[in-house]
Amino acid sequence: TETLPPMLVVEEVSKQFRGLKALKAVSLTVERGEIRGVVGPNGSGKTTLFNVISGFYKASGGRVLMDGQVISGGRPYRLSRIGLARTFQNLRLFGELTVRDNLLVALDRTRTYAIWQYVLWPVGILRQERRLNRQADELLERFGLAEFGGALPGSLPYGIQRRIEIARAMAGEPRLLLLDEPAAGLNGDEVRRLSEIVRSIRDSGVTVVLIEHNMGLVMSLCERVTVLAGGEVIAEGTPAEVAHDHAVIEAYLGD
Ligand code: ADP
Repeated sequence: TETLPPMLVVEEVSKQFRGLKALKAVSLTVERGEIRGVVGPNGSGKTTLFNVISGFYKASGGRVLMDGQVISGGRPYRLSRIGLARTFQNLRLFGELTVRDNLLVALDRTRTYAIWQYVLWPVGILRQERRLNRQADELLERFGLAEFGGALPGSLPYGIQRRIEIARAMAGEPRLLLLDEPAAGLNGDEVRRLSEIVRSIRDSGVTVVLIEHNMGLVMSLCERVTVLAGGEVIAEGTPAEVAHDHAVIEAYLGD
């Protein structure tokens, strides 16, 4: 049997902002079906790494492969089409749209019309609309948002808004999902709910990489953790291994 390539390979990626080296030859490999944690003190380069992987920043050096295919240099919308989704540290939902419409926008973006659908416009559009609405309902249901479909995101608790953002990222049926501090600002119950959601996403066949400061969540969720400090990978291993690593302890004490 042939072995499939890892879901994500970051090869010696560097990123420089003028004089500042935010990433210095960072390498990591995430296997398919993994939930990988990325941790590190503030300013260690975690978000920059996500921005490079997802095409928001162009790497100064190195390359990124998803599922065996080179994706570095790709524009974010292209990468989202081939199955890479991400969330942002600061929520980016449309405040004027209902939760359901936020999901519909994301679902609508993922489709393209064939020429016959323009010719048979009334038929095609009706069928598409019905399918989109069904998919929106499925997403609402799946992420425990059914009762909030008609609400504006800003009127809902923070934990729910985070869940909407994840549901929206999942609208494109990604193979790889990057979550940037999904537990930031959540209370204990919300973190537990988030943990279940991330696990169910993985169990549905999606590889997950998350940046997270909540060590309890990282410990309970991640098989492996990559630790960044000063733009470099200083440790990688199981949560228990990295927690006892001297370089990691030092990096955090100096934070
Ligand atoms: P983390 O997510 O680990 O807190 P970041 O990736 O946000 O770290 O930042 C790493 C370093 O890169 C920081 O020193 C930060 O100020 C710098 N940096 C990040 N983005 C930019 C940018 N767009 N322009 C200039 N410097 C940046």
